Amino acid sequence: MSGSWIADPAFRADEPFGPQTLPYGVVELPGGPAVAVRVGDHALPLRPIAGEFAPELADAVAAGSLDPLLALGRPAWTSLRARLRELVTATAPPPGAVLVPLAEAPTRLPFTVGDYVDFYSSRHHAENVGRIFRPDGEPLLPNWTHLPVGYHGRSGTVVVSGTGVVRPHGQRRGDQGPEFGPSTRLDIEAEVGFVCGGPVAGRVRTSAAPDHIFGVALVNDWSARDIQAWEYVPLGPFLGKSFATSISAWITPLDAFAAARVEVPDPGHPRLDYLVEDSHWGLDIGIEVSWNGTVVSRPEFAGMAYSCAQQLAHMTVNGATVRPGDLFASGTVSGPGKHQRGSFLELSWGGQEPVRLDDGSERTFLLDGDTVVITATAPGPDGSVVGLAEVAGTVLAAT
Ligand code: CA
Repeated sequence: MSGSWIADPAFRADEPFGPQTLPYGVVELPGGPAVAVRVGDHALPLRPIAGEFAPELADAVAAGSLDPLLALGRPAWTSLRARLRELVTATAPPPGAVLVPLAEAPTRLPFTVGDYVDFYSSRHHAENVGRIFRPDGEPLLPNWTHLPVGYHGRSGTVVVSGTGVVRPHGQRRGDQGPEFGPSTRLDIEAEVGFVCGGPVAGRVRTSAAPDHIFGVALVNDWSARDIQAWEYVPLGPFLGKSFATSISAWITPLDAFAAARVEVPDPGHPRLDYLVEDSHWGLDIGIEVSWNGTVVSRPEFAGMAYSCAQQLAHMTVNGATVRPGDLFASGTVSGPGKHQRGSFLELSWGGQEPVRLDDGSERTFLLDGDTVVITATAPGPDGSVVGLAEVAGTVLAAT
């Protein structure tokens, strides 16, 4: 950013982590974990400059996790972001400010994950999975265009980007009856996640969603397809997914997506009132999935059938409350093209069509040692680009 005291070439409006983005995370410092904001390829810990913020923000920015900030709510989030923008675009640093290169700033899970819900809101993903798992049936079940299908996942195994993922054991269908062992069909799901905050509330209207959504992160919903295929009838995903769910270390504020908002596709029939939006909360996010360094897919989030506001409205319409730290994810993001599929189940069409990587090797599902990195960007204000921090993970051998 020209004129800023932050001399980092990645801190510019045409770079994903310029002053238009300013995602929050938690970095490990010698004095303990600290809330930080990402500026280009550096972390700016906020505790040393907590005196620069209004009294109602100072305790939250000096904390060792985002939990207090999540609880403060939308007015505080907006004023903190405005103040941060002043500080990082000033010509001189605030007294005491320290910049830490990202490579020297280990991150940790930035907030305490409360309830975790995973949706299933990509029509192309739902149709592809329907065709693969139920080849003789209708790919889309009749409820799908009327409500955002979802399930409650396991918050205790949400892990921060960079955490190794141990290949899970479980039951799978075998020729002579069920078999037990390490999964042989370990997969990913490229998703977009929403981190909740603000007052505890039930029946959140779509128009009130911004009061309860703090920010956006990338999610990899690791999935053991052999375990899933055997266990999922009739109650849905369970042990095939609960072993690990990875999330970006940096949470991009919802405010950063003002220029990325789009209308979700028409379902082809009227929606029930509680799912109608008075402003659009679909998001034009372009995702990239790389497998051992080879980009294998570029799913487009703008094609999702339900927005985060509709998902939150649905999740709470029965009176279930949303609380600070709750996390919900979009469901696998897949587009109509083969190279827009957000899972390897779809990319390899159930394992029948191997994917070739740049090193010449072929894959259907994940091998031990494989690394998957998911990145994404969205349009920002004035032609800038807003970044979502990567979610990365490497498969470790079953123990
Ligand atoms: Ca999922």
